[in-house]
Amino acid sequence: MKFVRVPLSLQQTVMHTMRQKLTQASYFWQQNFPEPHITYQQRGTAAGTARLQDWEIRLNPILLIENQQTFIDEVIPHELAHLLAYHQFGKVAPHGKEWHFIMETIFKVKASRTHQFPVHSVRSKIFIYCCSCQQHELTIRQHNKILRGKNCYVCRQCGEKLILL
Ligand SMILES: [Zn+2]
Ligand SMILES: [Zn+2]
Repeated sequence: MKFVRVPLSLQQTVMHTMRQKLTQASYFWQQNFPEPHITYQQRGTAAGTARLQDWEIRLNPILLIENQQTFIDEVIPHELAHLLAYHQFGKVAPHGKEWHFIMETIFKVKASRTHQFPVHSVRSKIFIYCCSCQQHELTIRQHNKILRGKNCYVCRQCGEKLILL
């Protein structure tokens, strides 16, 4: 994978917004939360993912650099709300009422499940496939082989056939 370096100033803005949102949550619940670990390793067309068990937010560096503040304002609360929903309510629906509540009542931002950023620059470089145990990243070559019916990939862990996410 090509390593994409996120400028330091942009990383600082990310941290600033994350802390701001975390403060809103701490104020609401009268409780302190640890700062999530933020990494810039999200690939594909997803803007970010929240890794609940690891208390980590994974951001898409390309979409972040392309969309700057709009990305930060939208994706940070979105992913942070996933972590907090898990922390406060346990296993709940990913974009369920708990997540909505955190977004709109605590963070005061519009809750939308998906982002609207243009994805032409991140599309078609990597294809996310899944089985029942994990996500797999396939190259365009591997993806095309599957499309042409020449190849089928199976997960080494669970033995299931990979399907496009
Ligand atoms: Zn989400
Ligand atoms: Zn598997």
